[in-house]
Amino acid sequence: MNSFNLSGRVAVVTGGNGGIGLAMAEGLASAGADIVIAARDSKKGAKALTILESFDVRSTFIQVDVRDSHSISDLVESVVREFGGLHILVNNAGTNDRKQPEEYALEEWQTIIDTNLTSAFVASQKVYPHMSRTGGGKIINIGSMMSIFGASFTVPYASSKGGIVQMTKGMACAWAKDNVQVNAVLPGWIDTTLTREARQQVEGLHDRVEARTPAGRWGVPGDLAGIGVFLASSASDFVTGTAIPVDGGYSVQG
Ligand code: NDP
Repeated sequence: MNSFNLSGRVAVVTGGNGGIGLAMAEGLASAGADIVIAARDSKKGAKALTILESFDVRSTFIQVDVRDSHSISDLVESVVREFGGLHILVNNAGTNDRKQPEEYALEEWQTIIDTNLTSAFVASQKVYPHMSRTGGGKIINIGSMMSIFGASFTVPYASSKGGIVQMTKGMACAWAKDNVQVNAVLPGWIDTTLTREARQQVEGLHDRVEARTPAGRWGVPGDLAGIGVFLASSASDFVTGTAIPVDGGYSVQG
């Protein structure tokens, strides 16, 4: 038996139309899961679907704004209706806005918290009844190095990503009885749209990250595919509540 096989499983990846989310979706598809990409930008969604076409699975794009709880409810209901179940949820959609803590307007704080943390809470809450009713499921929350560290220029983001880890632990404890495993992945510095912007805004960031990372390089989205398959599959059935860094050693460098 291949405990990494995901055939017959249905996965929803928020923000799966690019970057880390798309790479995780590709990993899940390569292991046999059907994929639902849930994000706002339908052009990016269509492009992502052409990439997923190369896998022998069903895939679709559903336009969702994760800040809107109704939009998340509709997503979950339509996936269950159209695909006959929902077994894997990757809470990956995220945003950032970098400045000093005293410079944020309340609305800016709220946008980051809602996109990165509240959305994951709401989506997990919505999928839980379906997962528990059908014998279990897997929830994978995307944290960050900012789940562990602090930085002057990213206080709301770090607050949301710290929250992701604590939320993961609590839900893992609550839902283990239903065979729902909840884990977090903490990517290191990965080359995506999000961090390309950071490199423009934070002077010297590119070189500092490279120098501190024992692997000697920035990550690429594909570095996250394997952990996604592991945490989505029965290979991880006794793994819950963890926060696993995928960072080339960044977080253990003394
Ligand atoms: P991207 O900017 O490529 O991806 C972010 C994704 O989130 C986009 O696909 C975007 O979709 C989606 N998204 C943002 N806001 C919303 C919203 N309101 N509703 C629906 N979807 C939304 O960056 P990454 O791939 O780097 O980021 C993915 C995750 O990984 C984020 O949670 C990020 O915090 C985390 N992360 C990234 C790291 C890195 O180094 N890159 C490091 C640590 C964590 P759309 O285009 O449709 O808006």
